[in-house]
Amino acid sequence: MGEYTTFECRECGYTADRIRWGVGVHDPRQRFMPAYCVECGTIVEVDMTGADIHVDEFRCVVCGVELVFLEKAASYTCPKCKAHDMLMHQGEYW
Ligand SMILES: [Zn+2]
Ligand SMILES: [Zn+2]
Repeated sequence: MGEYTTFECRECGYTADRIRWGVGVHDPRQRFMPAYCVECGTIVEVDMTGADIHVDEFRCVVCGVELVFLEKAASYTCPKCKAHDMLMHQGEYW
């Protein structure tokens, strides 16, 4: 199941927009994952519906640079200030 996920940096205060992570509760074909853009320094939601992570290329809609996917981890690096002090919150299902 997918959860609404937010990332918040305790160092610089950067917060990412609410991101859908996982597979849709109502439509399991829908799939989203968080990724970050090194160029823009932001965490973005990527629509993975019908996509193959090993085959397709995923690029930032703003600058066109290839996105780096986030894995589930104990701590996350802030795309703005590079501090390893980002909190992840997972809320309700989508
Ligand atoms: Zn930061
Ligand atoms: Zn970008």
